[in-house]
Amino acid sequence: MTAGERTLIYFDHNASTPVRPEVVQAVTACLDGLHANASSLHREGQRARAALERAREQVAALVHARADEVVFVSGGTEGDHLAVVGGAWARRDEGRRVAISAVEHHAVHGAAEVLEEQGFEVAHLPVDTSGVIDLSALDHLEPGTVLVSVMLANNETGALQPVAEAARRSRHAGARLHCDAVQAAGKVPVDAAALEADYLVISGHKLGGPKGAGALIVRRGAPLAPLFRGSGHERGRRGGTENVPGIVGLGVAAECALRDLAAEGPRLRALRDRLEAGLRASAPGVVVHAARTERLPNTVNASFPGARSDHLLIALDARGIAVSAGAACASGAVEPSPVLAAMAVPRETAVCALRLSMGHTTSAAEVDALLAAFPEALRAARAVGAHAGG
Ligand code: PLP
Repeated sequence: MTAGERTLIYFDHNASTPVRPEVVQAVTACLDGLHANASSLHREGQRARAALERAREQVAALVHARADEVVFVSGGTEGDHLAVVGGAWARRDEGRRVAISAVEHHAVHGAAEVLEEQGFEVAHLPVDTSGVIDLSALDHLEPGTVLVSVMLANNETGALQPVAEAARRSRHAGARLHCDAVQAAGKVPVDAAALEADYLVISGHKLGGPKGAGALIVRRGAPLAPLFRGSGHERGRRGGTENVPGIVGLGVAAECALRDLAAEGPRLRALRDRLEAGLRASAPGVVVHAARTERLPNTVNASFPGARSDHLLIALDARGIAVSAGAACASGAVEPSPVLAAMAVPRETAVCALRLSMGHTTSAAEVDALLAAFPEALRAARAVGAHAGG
């Protein structure tokens, strides 16, 4: 990486986070000296096994689960598939319906599509204009609904969902609850036991760990049909030789996140307030999405009327600032995000959405640098739109 590339100010932590130095050190040591298969019975294998089990304890501690409930997977997408497909498939004789919130991540929508192809029916639970699910929908689930999926924090807006209450109502209707906690873990306290979620998913690269390592927490007694069958890995729940370096990195990242959680929450919230206040001052008419509900402390999703998402992203990138478009951009066209559409955000507002997400490396100086560059970037983006006819 060149010095120039390093100067990019990074406001895209919800997409992926910089790896923590403690994680780099642990993963490097592991790659260097822990090459054995954790299933091997010799001493080298047992050293790898011990490292794996330590990581299991670290992950369990972050989400208040028991170590034997932790199943290591390759990340959020696989964890969501294993929970949704494996959880529903294990109960296919009891019913062939699932219900997922309208604002779930593509990984959950994708898993539901797999089930649809297997003959399941998929219902979508509506959300209000803040992106929060309508809990009363859970009181009217179709008979035979075996699984409900409600995320803890939305990746685009940061909106938090009433998962504990969703779990209670789902259970009452005979459905198990899956909770995608990929964006919540490490940013807000996550207590799998208190949420009473049957399945809960986290991903290493969203909390300062490596890509390709994540965990599915399967509550004791919750049924699960494995998607990969192997030689009994992960107690028969996920076949495949474990990614020991990745899992060790995930464990250390979980430990760091837990250690820093109490201090990072208020610090990021203060940065978010400073960022939002600055944006409101420099862009009158800005619409901050999910502003009136409880949100992750690190996320701002806002629309800047007249500046299309992709134009503004490029204008900021040119000024050394990395953000995410709050709309899907492909081959010159821009489509509103399904999350904002589910929140009934008008199309012309939704196509101007931008997501700014912060994390452990974000400083007040970086927030100020973004705010200093913003008015000019906004003018540039609006000029492109005006030139191109919108
Ligand atoms: N779930 C949510 C809420 C996410 O934000 C993401 C990643 O963006 C995923 C699942 C997928 O995680 P991974 O990138 O580890 O597959």
